[in-house]
Amino acid sequence: MSKLPAFSARSYDFVEYVPARNWIGGQWREPTTKKTVPVENPRFGKALSSVPLSGAEDVDLAVKAAERAQKGWREVPMRERAQVFYRLKALMERDLEELAWLVTHENGKPYEDARASVEKGIECAEFGAALPNGGGAGQQLEVSRGVVCREIHEPLGVVAGITPFNFPIMVPLWMLPQAIVGGNAFVLKPSEQVPLGSMKLAELLKEAGLPDGIFNIVHGAADVVNALCDHPTIRAIGFVGSTKVAKLVYARGAASGKSMLCLGGAKNHMILVPDADPKLSVENIVASFTGATGQRCMAASVLVAVGAVEHVLGPVVERARQIELGKHLGPVINAAARERIERYVTEAEKAGAKVLVDGRGQRGGPEGYWAGVSVLDGVTPEMGAWQDEIFGPVLSIVRVKTLDEAIALENSHPYGNAASVFTTSGAVAEHVVRRVEAGMVGVNIGVPVPREPFGFGGWNQSKFGQGNLTGLDGFRFWTRPRKITMKWELQTDTTWMG
Ligand code: NAD
Repeated sequence: MSKLPAFSARSYDFVEYVPARNWIGGQWREPTTKKTVPVENPRFGKALSSVPLSGAEDVDLAVKAAERAQKGWREVPMRERAQVFYRLKALMERDLEELAWLVTHENGKPYEDARASVEKGIECAEFGAALPNGGGAGQQLEVSRGVVCREIHEPLGVVAGITPFNFPIMVPLWMLPQAIVGGNAFVLKPSEQVPLGSMKLAELLKEAGLPDGIFNIVHGAADVVNALCDHPTIRAIGFVGSTKVAKLVYARGAASGKSMLCLGGAKNHMILVPDADPKLSVENIVASFTGATGQRCMAASVLVAVGAVEHVLGPVVERARQIELGKHLGPVINAAARERIERYVTEAEKAGAKVLVDGRGQRGGPEGYWAGVSVLDGVTPEMGAWQDEIFGPVLSIVRVKTLDEAIALENSHPYGNAASVFTTSGAVAEHVVRRVEAGMVGVNIGVPVPREPFGFGGWNQSKFGQGNLTGLDGFRFWTRPRKITMKWELQTDTTWMG
């Protein structure tokens, strides 16, 4: 297999793809195992491809190819390495529609959402392309008379990334530009639920002029992840996924001395106070908990209602009721996700929460995995609906009397990815911003994603390791600083001029 097939159906129609293959040394490779699992189009609940469950041998092949290629790549000046990402950006723009439909087919997102996620991926490529001029060049200072200290960013060697199902193209691009422009060779283990997007990226990177072996893909599940964590040649691993797995991966990779940065799950709180702008708040709150069908780590799934905020809550509920599955929202990733989401709603109801909007049993089409929008009121910290990441379009409203109670509630949650406050008061906003236990904070914004050059990453149980994955922090993670201190004195008896 040399290329993914171009497909004619740029629509929601069911399309079949070729079986996923590993990408090693610039070629599609059959894995050494025969085990495969189906890749489903969640809109149809039907297999559109299959993905191999590779093993440690496949990881070793990829690492060896990467190691060979990296020896030459590290000698290429950074400005030239960055050119690949200029060209990748242009190629992704050329193929934007195709990439977006690919994401729609394997992940289920509506086309517009998929397109936005690819555009965000392009922004990441653009940041990588600009690295030589935007912070990647290092620094130099005359630290005392005649003594110059210079810091340059050296590659680590072979590095790896492990990614989740919810953004098949964007999340790999949180890592690739910084790691590859930094001079490393990369081995990616995409989610086995969405293996195709990164395969298309492999083709585009090759077309963009990336030498063979600098980007490799090994498909599979836990066996591949474990082999990456244990492989002695790999120097650093970036992981994005659930907290349970992030913790395991962090510990396993760190045990063999690797630099690890593992982003985990979230339970983001939005604090709503009575002076909030109703229109702005309603739009942002509903978009935050329903976008990506609630399957994103930036979804705010808890609304902390401070005092009398019925004038905002009423329209939130009204707007939530208008959201149609299949039209505004895509399906969830699989049957287990649908069951989990409905179970949390039922359990909260049994524990005393009021179901203001009930998405249970809703379907967006005759087939596929659908979970409708639900809004729960009177949720308390004893309920699973507050404690756990539901990862579906469910909003849990918790009532409190004061702003400090709201902050204390947010602080008591073990996760710390993001938090937001809705208010027209700068003083209230500042009070909240400085006190919430979250790495990414929004003011009148429901999805406070820090865009480049700022780094993406939460706190507490939402992240294991130092720094952030995107932006300049990402570049620092994938490289190591070398400090060179120099003193040159002209010898007075130099005679080579004459
Ligand atoms: P997941 O943790 O199930 O899987 C992530 C990756 O880990 C996949 O590649 C998977 O194959 C692998 N994996 C799964 N189980 C494993 C195991 N036992 N051992 C080793 N590897 C294993 O996550 P998911 O369901 O694909 O994605 C959803 C999760 O990702 C949510 O919790 C979401 O919040 C999180 N996420 C976080 C961020 C962030 O930036 N913090 C961004 C996107 C998604």
